[in-house]
Amino acid sequence: MALRIAIPNKGRLAEGSLGVLRQIGLRVASAREDDRRLYAHLADKYSVLFVRAADIPEFVRTGVVDCGITGHDLVAESGKNVAELLDLHFGHCRLVVAAPDDSPAQSIGDVPEGALVATAFPNLTSAFFAKHAKHVRIVPITGAAEITPQLGVADLITDLVETGSTLALHRLREIGTVLTSTATFIGNPAALEDPKRGARMRELVGSLESVVHAQRKRYLMANLPRSRLEEVRALIPGVSGPTIMNLMGKDDWVAVHAVVSEDEVNGIIACLKGMGATGILVLPIERMVL
Ligand code: AMP
Repeated sequence: MALRIAIPNKGRLAEGSLGVLRQIGLRVASAREDDRRLYAHLADKYSVLFVRAADIPEFVRTGVVDCGITGHDLVAESGKNVAELLDLHFGHCRLVVAAPDDSPAQSIGDVPEGALVATAFPNLTSAFFAKHAKHVRIVPITGAAEITPQLGVADLITDLVETGSTLALHRLREIGTVLTSTATFIGNPAALEDPKRGARMRELVGSLESVVHAQRKRYLMANLPRSRLEEVRALIPGVSGPTIMNLMGKDDWVAVHAVVSEDEVNGIIACLKGMGATGILVLPIERMVL
């Protein structure tokens, strides 16, 4: 029987989830390309279910699906018994406590007893204030927390932010962080114990991990005078040091290959040029199996 994987059908995590599955070779068309579709069957090996990100922890817990991709925040809020198997390093956000700009509260310590906190994350928010020995009253909402202080519904909010610009737009200011989150690959604990499903899930995790490792990495190649070898070793530590190869017919030159971080590429190229390097190439990496 095919391994059942749930991924978000829309919203912020939909594109990234499809992206990582495609990167490991699963040919899934997006839900948007065929809106009425709930399932995509991929040969006999996998079937992909498109559902709301917030429902995925429950579907994985009950075993409706074997595994899925959703936000760590949603898994933590749900409190469901699922195994978080891999951080997928996209969908970065933070659940923060925010107060109106004109509020005297600068930090969690300043929050008055009994304050009203509007949130779509009642469980995480209650636990956070309890940990800080603060008694607050939760106002559960399903979205648009940022307008509730203006409406007089709440004194504070907790909300997901990426940059904080939406908070500023609504004259709100961060005063604490409840949780940081990224997209996560989760599995049903019983399915993980099953010899066939468990093995298939671990295989999937291994493939996804290789994609995560390759993110923001580049394969760099250059030809360099042999006399600069020690300098290049210091410049590019690499995963296990750069690979050095002889160049045919050019005894005093070498080819250097290395995996480098995307954000280091420009600096390294400038240094290589300074050393007299030629034939510099930068290539994307699909997967890295460490
Ligand atoms: P959706 O409501 O379907 O767009 O998905 C929301 C999920 O996307 C959240 O639960 C987070 O895991 C993730 N996310 C990433 N960045 C943000 C953000 N800036 N605001 C809200 N959710 C975010």
